[in-house]
Amino acid sequence: MAAAGTDEAELLAAADALRRWFAAGLKPTIARAYMPEQLPYRKILRIYHLYGRKCVSAQGQMPVPANILESRMDGIEGAVFLSVYRKLAGPELPPGLPDPDTVILARRRYLEIRLAAGLDRFREGKELDLTECWVLANALRCGTVQLRRCRRGHTYVTADMQARPLCCDFCSIKESGRINGPYISADSGYLREIEEAERKEAAEKAADEAR
Ligand SMILES: [Zn+2]
Repeated sequence: MAAAGTDEAELLAAADALRRWFAAGLKPTIARAYMPEQLPYRKILRIYHLYGRKCVSAQGQMPVPANILESRMDGIEGAVFLSVYRKLAGPELPPGLPDPDTVILARRRYLEIRLAAGLDRFREGKELDLTECWVLANALRCGTVQLRRCRRGHTYVTADMQARPLCCDFCSIKESGRINGPYISADSGYLREIEEAERKEAAEKAADEAR
């Protein structure tokens, strides 16, 4: 195949990927890192304006892992997402920037887990957006975010520069009495825990209102 033809095929594939990623909510500032040099940023932006989500800004600073994982419940969101992501990407994370398609797929699975668990009602609108998911996936590869296992078998997440203690969020929430029951991984275990937390929260709210 002639060099020009290869270039054209590469550009078409790149434009295809951009449409897919922007529709899923990827930021153009992230997408550009995966694009061939021949594709100028203004063309990437044009595709973003056609296919991108209105709620996703083309500008803006990238969030920092320690801020994404600010509270213990944020830590649980991050642990669920990263557990799914690591499962999909493989325990030996591939070198280079995380594959956006894998991040998108992992986020979809994470949202399903949240929905099944009722976490979307318990923490409405507090789900990780795609930019945050990408930042966490990238930080996991760089080692500035770590997935750890606690003595009780929970997979939890910690970040460099994290302000709160570097202990298991599941255990500390459990000790605070907000979540009960055993669980093991990012699948059914988390669901049971979260459902239990939601029930407890609803019961507390009802009790408060009855007072
Ligand atoms: Zn734990």
